[in-house]
Amino acid sequence: MKTFALAGNPNSGKTTLFNALTGATAYVGNWPGVTVEKREGKYKGKKNGVEAKIVDLPGIYSLSPYTPEEVISRNFILDEKPDLVIDVIDATNLERNLYLTTQLLEIDVPVIVALNMNDVLEKQGISIDVKELEKTLGVPVVLVSALKNEGIDELLSKADKVSNTAREGSSVLEKTEHAELVKKAVEVMKEAGIASPTFHAIKMLEKDEIEETNHPEEAKRIAGVLPEGVEFDAISADERYQYISSNCSIHRKGEKAERAKEKLTLSDKIDKVLTIRWAGIPIFLVILLIVFGLTFSEDLFFLGRMGVPFTPCFEGNPYFEGLFWTDAGINSPGVMLMGLWEGFSGWLGDLMNQGLEAAGAASWAIGFIDSVIIDGVFAVIGFLPQILVLYIFFSILEDSGYMARVAFIFDRIFRKVGLSGRAFIPMLMGYGCGVPAMINTRTLNTDKERVQTIRAIAFFPCGAKMALLSAIAGVLAENFGLNAVLISYSFYIVGLVIAILSVILMHWTTQREKVPPFIMELPAYHLPQFRALMIHIWDKVKHYLKKVSTIVVISAIFIWAFTHLTWGWAYVDPEETGYAGTVLHDLSSWISPLFTPMGFGNVQAGASAWAYSLSSITGIVAKEVVPETLEVISGGNLEAFVAASGITVGGFYAFVMFNLMTIPCFASIGTAKAELPKGTLKWTLLFWVGASYLLGIFTYITIDFTWTLAITLPVIIGVFVLAYFYNKKKTEKEEALKA
Ligand code: GDP
Ligand code: MG
Repeated sequence: MKTFALAGNPNSGKTTLFNALTGATAYVGNWPGVTVEKREGKYKGKKNGVEAKIVDLPGIYSLSPYTPEEVISRNFILDEKPDLVIDVIDATNLERNLYLTTQLLEIDVPVIVALNMNDVLEKQGISIDVKELEKTLGVPVVLVSALKNEGIDELLSKADKVSNTAREGSSVLEKTEHAELVKKAVEVMKEAGIASPTFHAIKMLEKDEIEETNHPEEAKRIAGVLPEGVEFDAISADERYQYISSNCSIHRKGEKAERAKEKLTLSDKIDKVLTIRWAGIPIFLVILLIVFGLTFSEDLFFLGRMGVPFTPCFEGNPYFEGLFWTDAGINSPGVMLMGLWEGFSGWLGDLMNQGLEAAGAASWAIGFIDSVIIDGVFAVIGFLPQILVLYIFFSILEDSGYMARVAFIFDRIFRKVGLSGRAFIPMLMGYGCGVPAMINTRTLNTDKERVQTIRAIAFFPCGAKMALLSAIAGVLAENFGLNAVLISYSFYIVGLVIAILSVILMHWTTQREKVPPFIMELPAYHLPQFRALMIHIWDKVKHYLKKVSTIVVISAIFIWAFTHLTWGWAYVDPEETGYAGTVLHDLSSWISPLFTPMGFGNVQAGASAWAYSLSSITGIVAKEVVPETLEVISGGNLEAFVAASGITVGGFYAFVMFNLMTIPCFASIGTAKAELPKGTLKWTLLFWVGASYLLGIFTYITIDFTWTLAITLPVIIGVFVLAYFYNKKKTEKEEALKA
């Protein structure tokens, strides 16, 4: 079977095209650098009878790579010799995208250009003279819209034909005043029998590092051809752009081009407001708060608080009373959906229990089913609605292009402390799940930058951590009289702040280095696509239910078993005799003093401390297991359990804080191990545990013993000041050494 590779600039729509061609559901994000690994799929030919393997590559701006994922793209095209390269171009950014095209054309491989985003062109009233562009480039050009699924089968039919004839690489540089030089260099490579001589010769002239190490002999010879003082890489970049602007841009015409300009300025206008120096962050915080309100609020639009009288809907219904509104106000979509599941699963659970009792099942068996199915599986599924609602909003924010602006805003802050804001994109991806976020750090330039970003990603509240927040929302309201919206929101903000502060601290101390500047590219705004949104959500649901059917079921069985069995394998019924003497109770009680400094150890939570300790440990498997453990132990009545444990607000807040900030889950440990440089995983684990422990203590004493701020604040500020001066001194010394 033939192999067609998709290559192009970041955010040009390669993955969208890949999904359209193969029916896959790979992650599409409206910011550059989402795809970091190559991905393969089979083209599902419609009527054209074409069969081909499609490979989606990470986005690249040029074939002189800087980051690991850019190397993947270059190596694939050069070494694995696909039968054809489909160069995906964002047609609304023709000139910039063609820069890569001029390099792809230098390789001995058939190329076809897919001018993507044709739907946007049409809307802007711009047309591109495809025939003329084909003549200029010397390869076929097809207009497509990956998003709207237009022109795709046509593209593949043409691609199939083009791939049948070999193509020899040629360069626009051969048409400039440096033609002679290029010719000489190509001769050298041809003599050495290297494939794609034109490409390699030009890269050699550009003094490309990969090229020089791969062919040291030829490097020397070509260096001999190159006249003294000629910086060919700068020259070639300049000439490529000149060629494009004088030969290709003319094919772009727009009757309504004027209006298109106006439209562009609308996007610019939005950006002007959203990214105002002082307002960007407050706007982000307000948008986040609104999103949280829509997810967690039980008094939407504050109608209840403003005194509008409500009587709960479905009054008297045992399962669905207050589904849409209660006397407190209108429920948010997140709360409604959760209520729907609670009502349904409650009804199902009761039915199951009645059935078991009627069938004369033993009481331990009924207890087991209750624990595993109702307190375990049903409860954990119950967190899904709010996770989904929040996730939908985040997807909309991301797909519209807004999240890229948020990264841009934070980039400016990061730059002040000498960091590059590129790291912010994987961190913001961490709002969904830390695993792809950690993989995305491959787009960063250096190991140190990757290390500190991977560590900070753990502080971002991912979907699974939402399960914990969703579970404790009731406790916060019932036990401590706090507002669930504001508290959940505060955990998000704290996570963000801690992530930023920890990155700064690392950058000043253990991970010092000069970071190359990063130019944040802002993708165009567009309306979020319903289909893409549904794909995102369906993926999330699938992933979550998979976790429920594996990790959650197994942990529920494990927890139930070892909270009902003694060391001598005797069965006890905790409802009669309590948990004392069971295996997990004893083990957890034994370690619970460790948690005392954070306010939820043996001193504060007494006989219940073991449950908090146990869930903090089991939570390392997956964060959903934290609330699951508590639900199973408390028999599904978390509020009563927390009240009986005697834990304080500070202790409970610290418990949540510790669990949100500590080692995220097994999957993230595995990913971190794969992505981190050798030998740094243990330090990273230590960092996660240490940071969350200190943060837990700080949270507890700040809330319950506020006076301690008089000590802790100066210490924290002192640490940052010391780190700042340490970094400054070291940098000065290094610079003095250099000079
Ligand atoms: P990649 O980085 O090249 O893989 O680009 P993606 O496939 O992730 O797409 C980047 C953004 O462009 C996403 O927000 C897509 O929804 C959007 N996009 C992709 N193709 C089209 C298209 O044909 N038309 C429009 N309007 N948007 C598109
Ligand atoms: Mg992609």
